[in-house]
Amino acid sequence: MNVLLVTSEVKPFSETGGLGDVAGALPKYLSKIGVNIKVISPFYYSIKEKKSIMKKMKKKTSIKTSFGNKKENCNIYTYQEDNKNSVEYIFIENSWYYDREEIYGYADDYKRFAYLSKVALEVVEKIDFKVDIIHCNDWQSALVPIYLKNEYIKKDFYKNIKTILTIHNLQYQGIMNKDKLGEVGLDESYFNIEKLEFFGEINILKGGLVFSDLITTVSNTYAKEIQKEEFGFGLNGIVKELEDKIIGIVNGIDYEVIDPEKEELPINFSIESLEKKELGKKQLLKKLKLNDTGKPLVGMVTRLATQKGIDLIPEKTKDLGIQLVVLGTGEEIFENKIKKMEKINKGEFKGILKYNSILAKEIFAYSDFFLMPSKFEPCGLGQLYALRYGTVPIVRNTGGLSDTISHYNRETMKGDGIVFDHSLESAVEWGILESVKLYKEKEHFKKAIKNGMEKDYSWNNSAEIYKEIYINLIK
Ligand code: ADP
Repeated sequence: MNVLLVTSEVKPFSETGGLGDVAGALPKYLSKIGVNIKVISPFYYSIKEKKSIMKKMKKKTSIKTSFGNKKENCNIYTYQEDNKNSVEYIFIENSWYYDREEIYGYADDYKRFAYLSKVALEVVEKIDFKVDIIHCNDWQSALVPIYLKNEYIKKDFYKNIKTILTIHNLQYQGIMNKDKLGEVGLDESYFNIEKLEFFGEINILKGGLVFSDLITTVSNTYAKEIQKEEFGFGLNGIVKELEDKIIGIVNGIDYEVIDPEKEELPINFSIESLEKKELGKKQLLKKLKLNDTGKPLVGMVTRLATQKGIDLIPEKTKDLGIQLVVLGTGEEIFENKIKKMEKINKGEFKGILKYNSILAKEIFAYSDFFLMPSKFEPCGLGQLYALRYGTVPIVRNTGGLSDTISHYNRETMKGDGIVFDHSLESAVEWGILESVKLYKEKEHFKKAIKNGMEKDYSWNNSAEIYKEIYINLIK
């Protein structure tokens, strides 16, 4: 079975969040269980700065194609590790679209990613990859099913290809003015309520949902939540209509890369040597210039966005009996809140307004608790990393957080986190106070840690489910 995964980011080449993690890990696991999968993504400028990656990058071919009202050229590069079953990555080099400082955030993003979708379809024929399924992700590749059914399906090479669209976050939809349809190569018939029209504009994600053969999203609870107004961002109606072709599959994480026992960390530890995790905490506190006060250390590694519930964090965390470290970047209003919290919680709070994977890992590994007060959370990876490192998650009961974390019960000694229901500051405060209580009850605290470390959220399980749905789709 041949699959092409189309994605706007893929770790370790490019990454801004969860999609990059998923695109980096899932194909490796699928490949191990016999799926012949390639991944296609843009060749961003930032990739060109990564020397070790560039050493293995090979120019394969070039593609000239009509795109909207003009012709566009790009070079196709490939990257593959030497080991058996390694995944081939295909990169699209077009300096106009992708040689930019950031991955997202430009006025012509709709065009940059429409081009990704277009080239993804062109490339399979060009390199003679007889693909059965094209697996698209979020709005950035949601034009693939539309282009396929509009144009390519007429050719023999494409006629049996099926498409899957995975929603990693329904909030981002790729909305553009209807006058731009021509620029992405579609005629006015697509400005139609049955197709891409959405409140007078064009909604690329909506088109992808309508035209793809199957939709998946990244947890069961989120698959249900997005049928409701509260979580639907205007698309709940159409999602409800398409309910029969939507499946929820929870994300995994790469247990080979994320491994407190073996990966590169200042101090390694395991479920048998949690005292070493405590040593790691001491070193981390030093690095963060926080005093070692013996209070529980709560960590956050997050986009500073409304979705993540940053507005709900009580400002005076000092009074709650914790030390808090927040690593994140994002909206100015939240960056200012973090700066303010640093002033009012001197010595007990550290805010680092950066994207830093190394520090992120240390926060996941050595904090006592990991806080995710999300308003909605399609899957969430932070809580899964936390479990792997024996850091007890404090989460709101929503989306993937509901599906992966269960509240610790002192009687049964089951459960691995602290779960609160409401999207309110008082609920977050309750969660934090519960963590302080649990931290003091050493036997229960250790049990919650161990329960989490014994869970298996590696991709093994979810990759099998993806394989099964691929097989069913092409039957
Ligand atoms: P989302 O994709 O909605 O941002 P997820 O929890 O699914 O949230 O994934 C976020 C990923 O991005 C995690 O791997 C997290 O560690 C990483 N991340 C977020 N912010 C930062 C940061 N400032 N520095 C390092 N890694 C970060």
